[in-house]
Amino acid sequence: MAQKTITINGQKIEPGENKTVILNSYELHTKTKIEIPVHVIHSKNPGPSILLCAGMHGEETNGIEIIRKVISRDEVENLKCGTLVAIPVINVVSFLYGSRDLPDGRDLNRCFPGTKSGSLGSRIAYDLMKHIVPIIDFGFDFHTGGAKINNYPQLRCVFDFPDNVALAERFSTSLIIDSSYRDGTFRKEASKKGKPILVYEGGESMRFDYLAINEGVNGCLRLMQSYDMIDFDLPQNHSVKIKDDTWVRANSSGLFHMNANNGAHVRKGDLLGVICNPFGEAEDKIYSPTNGYIVGINNQPVVNQGDALIHLGIDED
Ligand SMILES: [Zn+2]
Repeated sequence: MAQKTITINGQKIEPGENKTVILNSYELHTKTKIEIPVHVIHSKNPGPSILLCAGMHGEETNGIEIIRKVISRDEVENLKCGTLVAIPVINVVSFLYGSRDLPDGRDLNRCFPGTKSGSLGSRIAYDLMKHIVPIIDFGFDFHTGGAKINNYPQLRCVFDFPDNVALAERFSTSLIIDSSYRDGTFRKEASKKGKPILVYEGGESMRFDYLAINEGVNGCLRLMQSYDMIDFDLPQNHSVKIKDDTWVRANSSGLFHMNANNGAHVRKGDLLGVICNPFGEAEDKIYSPTNGYIVGINNQPVVNQGDALIHLGIDED
């Protein structure tokens, strides 16, 4: 069966066509119009329709770079089959400001499913649900850690859903983490429509992290290769699946030094870091409470009692 014409908010993309269209136009208080570009690569031959989207939070730049790199490759511009729907910057307004949230303080990824006449975030969410979700089979939403948290490259999905796990294995990041749905997220609302969306987390906000960028690009290429959408020879990663996780928090306030590497496997009792008093007196050593993998670290040098320092994926072996 041949591919059909795709329509996004009244704009048609024919089979065999690569085209950038506009999700919608939103007006700021300055009367400035803000548009969200959607780049579609629509092969003539049938195959899966994949969404890659990033910049849901405007200061999370790694995902934006991942999608830029993926869609500028020759083999992706000339897909053998299927469709790629790429939205490198969903939250254009927050990207302009370099901020996580929208100008009214809302988190766009808590605005789903959204409404046509709601807040700016609610309208963007509504447009994604109305115009994008129906034309895709599944998707990947690219994020980074926020507030000085650096996430080791990882996919987050629901282990109870076999389609989630199968997609994660095709993408094949080194860490795959079980993560239940949160209300108001794109991931949860798309799943209600039968469209699995996996969240990729890599690096931290406002900082390029080339390990996270390269793992993300390679995952997208592996995924497309697995559906024979591109010719590309990339070996599978060895993936570790993590069912449970825990945060190691600061027992005291002070200057935090990390003694272990992000992504490393640690054993219960290993020294993970030290919190020093700036006046040279106390040292508070932080030990791993469990065997596991370091899946995220706090890069903030000054920490307060109770702050989240190290995110551990618990190793069940
Ligand atoms: Zn995010």
